[in-house]
Amino acid sequence: MTQVRAVERILRAYPTIEGAGVRLHRAFGSYEVPQFDPFLMLDDFRASRPEDYLPGFPTHPHRGIETVTYMLKGSVEHADSMGHAGKVNAGAVQWMTAGSGIVHSEMPKPVNGQMGGFQLWVNLPQSHKMMDPRYQEITRKQIPEVSIPDGTTIKVLCGSVADVTGPVRDIVADPEYLDVSVDPDAFFSHPVKEGYTALAYVIGGDGTFDPREGHPVMNRDLILFGDGPSITARSFKKGFRFLFFSGKPIHEPVAWWGPIVMNTTEELRQAFREYQDGTFIKKKA
Ligand code: FE
Repeated sequence: MTQVRAVERILRAYPTIEGAGVRLHRAFGSYEVPQFDPFLMLDDFRASRPEDYLPGFPTHPHRGIETVTYMLKGSVEHADSMGHAGKVNAGAVQWMTAGSGIVHSEMPKPVNGQMGGFQLWVNLPQSHKMMDPRYQEITRKQIPEVSIPDGTTIKVLCGSVADVTGPVRDIVADPEYLDVSVDPDAFFSHPVKEGYTALAYVIGGDGTFDPREGHPVMNRDLILFGDGPSITARSFKKGFRFLFFSGKPIHEPVAWWGPIVMNTTEELRQAFREYQDGTFIKKKA
């Protein structure tokens, strides 16, 4: 099969309020289940007004998922109930596997008045929902950059491009996470495993992912691809920057309430019972 993946859907990120009052844009979330399986949610918290993000995300629990924070500007201060604390700085990524449970806070901090990044949620299959929590914390310098001669630069956070493998490893959904910048009027092609879900989220410039070059897209457009062995992107005059994700679908029932995603409502009830009676944390990260 040599067919390039078609553009199946284009969605526009929509404004919403999360945490203690953070105004952000959501590319997809619980309303879109199961279209983006194994991915559950993508939040875009690029913002120019401090009041949009300073309320932050005070103490909250997670179970059954992984959360991936990738910062472009500013930083997020992170602290959890087990004493693990750190900062995700511009250009860095934190891949947090909540597994059986983590209780943490995430507080955006501007640098030179600027703040912006993305949080992706990746589902865990039933077999791994209660795995031990873990972090993969990757600095900007640890993320390899691949330059392709005809005008594309790719930051490889997770997955492989041209024999360069990103630093985030051993993730259950076998995901790719790329930050792709395409020069003006240039063309990019990338292989994708067949049967894997593939999506792109535009973060600058404009262009098209349609192999027939229709469907122009711009900042804050989300593209879901049909199946096939590769995707293509063509930039227009301003060039084009997008995040690209692919992953192996889990194909399991999703029971989702707030920051906890399990397979059944009974498992959700149990999680919230445990959070209330203090038995939520099973294992220190
Ligand atoms: Fe969180």
